[in-house]
Amino acid sequence: MNLLPQSIQTAIQSLSDLPGIGNRSAERLIFALLRNESGLDQKISESLKNLRKNIGECSLCHHFCEITNSEETQAPLCEICQRPSRDKKSICVIETPTDLIALERTLEFKGLFHVLHGVISPLQKVGPEDLRIAHLFKRLQNNTEIEEVILAMSGNIESDATALYITENLHKIFKGKITRLARGIPTGGDLDYLDTGTLSRALLDRRDY
Ligand SMILES: [Zn+2]
Repeated sequence: MNLLPQSIQTAIQSLSDLPGIGNRSAERLIFALLRNESGLDQKISESLKNLRKNIGECSLCHHFCEITNSEETQAPLCEICQRPSRDKKSICVIETPTDLIALERTLEFKGLFHVLHGVISPLQKVGPEDLRIAHLFKRLQNNTEIEEVILAMSGNIESDATALYITENLHKIFKGKITRLARGIPTGGDLDYLDTGTLSRALLDRRDY
C-alpha cells in the first residue's frame, strides 16, 4: 500500500537520487515545499532550468562559468582565468569545483586551476576520457609559462590512482615541477571537508611527486 500520492513519490524519488540526500531528507524537503506558500517551488524549478541554459565550462580550466550570448561565438572564460592578477606559472589540479572554492578560501594559492570533474574509477565506469584530463595535457603542451603543476587530490585510492595516471603521462610532455599536497589530508577525506587551516598547511607543505 502506498501512503503517498504518485506525484509526491516521484518528486521524492528524484530528489533522493542526489548525493547526500536520503529518502527521509527528500520526504522532508518535498513536504516543506508543498506547505510553502511563497512560490519557493517555482523559484527553485526556474533556477534549475536556468542552470542548464546559462552554465557551461570555462574553456581553459573547466570550472563552471556563466555563458552569455556574446560568448556563443568565443570560448567562455571563468572569473579566475580572466583575472590578470593570477599567477600564470602554476596550475592546481582539482577534482571538483567545490575543491576550487575550498582552496580559494585558504588565500594561499594565487595561481590557476584545472578542474577534472571527477576521478578515474573503474568501479563507477569512469575512465580518463570521461574527465578533463586530456584537456589538461593539451593545456600544458601548448603553454611555456607554467612552471608547476600541483595535484591537489583527495586522500583516497581512486584519487591517488588518478594522480599517478596524470603524473606518468605528464612527465612525457611537461618539463616543469609536479607536486602534490602534503598529507595533512586524512585518508579518504575530501578537500572541501577540511578546515581552511589544514588545507592551507597541506598546500604550503606540498611535495614533489
Ligand atoms: Zn577558468
